[in-house]
Amino acid sequence: MRKTIVAGNWKMNGTSESIRALLDGITAGVPVVDGLVTLVCPPAVYLSQVKELLGNAPVVVGAQNVSAQPKGAFTGEWSLEMLQDLGCEYVILGHSERRSLFKETDADVADKVDATLTAGLTPILCVGETLTQREAGETLAVVATQVDAVVQRVGIERFASVVIAYEPVWAIGTGLTATPEQAQEVHAAIRARLAGSGMKVADKLSILYGGSMNAGNAAELLAQQDIDGGLIGGASLKADEFLTICAAAA
Ligand code: PEP
Repeated sequence: MRKTIVAGNWKMNGTSESIRALLDGITAGVPVVDGLVTLVCPPAVYLSQVKELLGNAPVVVGAQNVSAQPKGAFTGEWSLEMLQDLGCEYVILGHSERRSLFKETDADVADKVDATLTAGLTPILCVGETLTQREAGETLAVVATQVDAVVQRVGIERFASVVIAYEPVWAIGTGLTATPEQAQEVHAAIRARLAGSGMKVADKLSILYGGSMNAGNAAELLAQQDIDGGLIGGASLKADEFLTICAAAA
């Protein structure tokens, strides 16, 4: 059985006070179901606070990025050892905002996934096409290139510990969502490609959808055969909406 993951990417939002209120809301109603992981990824400066506020609640914590470097003169960065120290279990990597705004390349993302696997944390590798690429019929090729860059770096066996998030760039934060059929097509293609690359456990890999998933469209997306959860931005900042998505995944 594949793990279902509902992950909130809070991006650069929140204050101590708003985070406390959000977590109060989430922990009051988070479903506890075998095979379902509920994950929140706050800004790094709030990771300790979030971990402390969660206590024993059935919600795990992840980061939105990490350095591939172990330590040293890298002002403004943080390491995997630090994330381990804080009890983080997941790291979002290669988010389209990191790729476009911070110029992270496939090679940078591969380095980070490699380091994250070595540290024993679970990378959530984000892949997805722009609108221009979709309109040019390049979606599957773009996503394949992004996935292959990491597979080539870490090897197909280690890649079995990666979680993929398919996030069409045109759907992130725009209110536009891939149709369930569009998303399913890409998810199935990723799984088939990994199986074709020699991954024996491709059917066990969790592939999340991200891109304006919300309380209204989650159930239909999550009902698709190869959609194993969601990476949720805007809708993860409202406890009620996030919980509705968790319930749809449960
Ligand atoms: C995201 O940031 O990963 C995301 C999917 O954002 P949103 O849900 O707001 O589109």
